[in-house]
Amino acid sequence: MRYAEMDFGEARLRTGPEPDTPHGFARVRVLACGVCATDLHLLHGMVLPRGATYPVRPGHEIAGVVEHVNGDGARVSEGDLAVLHPLAPCGRCSACERGEDQRCESLRTLGMHDPGGFADIVVWPASRMLPANGLEPGAAALLADAAATGHNALKLAAVPPGGSLCVLGAGGLGTATLAVARALDPRVRLAAVVRSEASAERLRALGIEVHRGLVGAARALRRNLGRMDAVIDFSGQPGAPAEGVALLRRGGRLVLGSVVDAELTLGASSAFMAHELQVVGAYVSSLHDLAAVIELARDRRLDPSAWVSHRRPLEELEGALELAENRPPGTVRVVVDCAAE
Ligand SMILES: [Zn+2]
Ligand SMILES: [Zn+2]
Repeated sequence: MRYAEMDFGEARLRTGPEPDTPHGFARVRVLACGVCATDLHLLHGMVLPRGATYPVRPGHEIAGVVEHVNGDGARVSEGDLAVLHPLAPCGRCSACERGEDQRCESLRTLGMHDPGGFADIVVWPASRMLPANGLEPGAAALLADAAATGHNALKLAAVPPGGSLCVLGAGGLGTATLAVARALDPRVRLAAVVRSEASAERLRALGIEVHRGLVGAARALRRNLGRMDAVIDFSGQPGAPAEGVALLRRGGRLVLGSVVDAELTLGASSAFMAHELQVVGAYVSSLHDLAAVIELARDRRLDPSAWVSHRRPLEELEGALELAENRPPGTVRVVVDCAAE
């Protein structure tokens, strides 16, 4: 089988033997795997989670056909189109007992600890896959991380019905989060802060209030929309958290959904006390979040195919990574079609 391998600054396609399917696992023939910003961090050399080491076999946004299920407890059957949750929790710690998968103390991550989906075949715990029959595989793949992560961040943002939300940074993850927010509550008022004019146009066409550039974004959006119930930061920009705080109403919530390579700066502390602001981190998602977004997509309330701007076969993985890195105008998400010739 073919699989991608990444080391610092280098991605290669290799061939090797097919993996076994241990008890409790399922073997999936990969149809599509999304290129996530994390894959680019992996390529450039990032601090891996404990227990993971370079070289890695990347790809964690996967949809494919279940070929074999070994054992009981699976939520998928052979022949299903499955979407794989990118995290495998231990199932025994107190976080796992509460159903908070992503807070597990000994998580395994697909595409970091274990071989990922830029490959012909993936083997992953059968309990961490959900059926998504009827969906187009490239679109279904993006539910695994982008949409489910957005769903978790929205849960933490706790926007009231008909309330208001601003997303800072509307690349793949931000775009998916805005779409999930609207699917969950068509009356929610949405705003976004983006860098490029192409992104601004794309979001304005969806009826989203857009401001280009972080500097002065809070002031401009406050003028047009008033203060917001919640702000979610997916921009990774050092100035974003403080700009987000300046947008919040009293009692509002700032959700930090991306790593910033700098000390966290939030602005004056007096506002946090006097306005009872809350700041919370959001990390990936739980299986419940994935189930919820698959349901939304199957009900046609969410259309992840709208986020697929480019597709490449597995043989062109390097080109796909370059495209995701350079993000020419119009780029939302790049999907690798692993079964394509
Ligand atoms: Zn990802
Ligand atoms: Zn656990």
